[in-house]
Amino acid sequence: MDNHTKEVRSYNMSQIRSTNTKPEETVRKYLFSKGFRYRKNDKHLPGKPDIVLKKYKTLIFVNGCFWHCHEGCPKYVFPKSNQEYWREKLDRNKKRDAENISKLENMGWNVITVWECELKKDKLGYTLETLADAVRRGANNEKR
Ligand SMILES: [Zn+2]
Repeated sequence: MDNHTKEVRSYNMSQIRSTNTKPEETVRKYLFSKGFRYRKNDKHLPGKPDIVLKKYKTLIFVNGCFWHCHEGCPKYVFPKSNQEYWREKLDRNKKRDAENISKLENMGWNVITVWECELKKDKLGYTLETLADAVRRGANNEKR
């Protein structure tokens, strides 16, 4: 049974959306504290990457698990109603993400995706350290 009114439902959806911005800030703050300098949401690059580290030839997408279809993740669950609608919508998101990533890689960027669920308290420290290493590796790749 679905007893949410339309208003409540769209409120819930906007809540889901707004949580997508906070994880990006967490990642940016960490990188900044480690001395990395970056640009935000570069409109000129496919998919508007959340973080652009030009010096390291690295781009970071911080993705919400629901909107970007994190396979196997408990947060990637279709809403109970309108399943067909959601499946189509999210499949489109997924396809677009994949296309953007391959375009960017072809342009020579090292592309890293950080999932929202990897930024939960118990995983945060590990995720951020691993990320910093991966960014530094991006710079090394360039020298090859
Ligand atoms: Zn996830």
